[in-house]
Amino acid sequence: MIDFNNVSKTYPNGTHALYDVSIHIDKGEFAFIVGASGAGKSTFLKLIMHEESPSSGEIIVNNLNITKMRRRKVPYLRRHMGIVFQDFRLIDKMNVFDNVAFAMRAIGASASSIKKRVPYILELVGLKNKMKNKPSELSGGEQQRVSLARALVNNPEIIIADEPTGNVDPEMSHDIIQLLSEINDMGTTVLVVTHEHELVRQFNKRVIVIDHGRVKSDTKNPEAALAY
Ligand code: ADP
Ligand code: ADP
Repeated sequence: MIDFNNVSKTYPNGTHALYDVSIHIDKGEFAFIVGASGAGKSTFLKLIMHEESPSSGEIIVNNLNITKMRRRKVPYLRRHMGIVFQDFRLIDKMNVFDNVAFAMRAIGASASSIKKRVPYILELVGLKNKMKNKPSELSGGEQQRVSLARALVNNPEIIIADEPTGNVDPEMSHDIIQLLSEINDMGTTVLVVTHEHELVRQFNKRVIVIDHGRVKSDTKNPEAALAY
């Protein structure tokens, strides 16, 4: 599903963000990516989304070699990805239904499939009763669930979440990860960047620790991973 083979990333200003990273993530896996601020976590995600390209090494996502993918091919890659941001990135002029429908319209889905699928997904994240509300009328946790619904609605193979609980209270944070875990149980590969160790401890998942641009540990034992 995702393969990094000896990937390094140096930004144009000379900052070495990742250094000789090799990681294999199977279809259907759930992995937390943890590490200090500036460790290279966001860069790792940006390389998967091809928002940045690597300086050396090779990246395969979904059987596509994206190492040198052309800009115009990127939308094709992103079609298979659902992306969840720390700051939600919802459109406040639109209600909850339309925020989620927007992602389906963007790929040319029919009106009838939108009408069926959006309420189904909103029910899955527990927000069917807020369909007509504007994002500003919802709590942080609810807004993040809308953003999760939007990421899910096109049935992506991979969900990528960059600090999805950063603007959400602790109890709701647990619910968001729980929801991602249930989505993972249905077969979607899930990658979650977080610096919240408590949260990582609550779920028994693979934990990839990035430290100064290198993979410091990669284990299914959260306690071992977090002892850094
Ligand atoms: P996070 O994803 O951990 O919230 P960011 O990706 O926003 O953080 O930034 C992480 C670090 O990278 C910060 O120290 C930030 O100042 C730095 N950074 C982000 N973008 C740039 C940039 N374009 N040029 C230089 N430094 C950057
Ligand atoms: P994290 O997400 O773990 O906080 P990042 O991947 O954002 O780390 O950053 C890794 C390193 O790369 C940091 O030193 C950061 O300042 C630097 N960096 C991130 N983005 C840029 C950029 N666009 N230009 C230059 N340096 C960057």
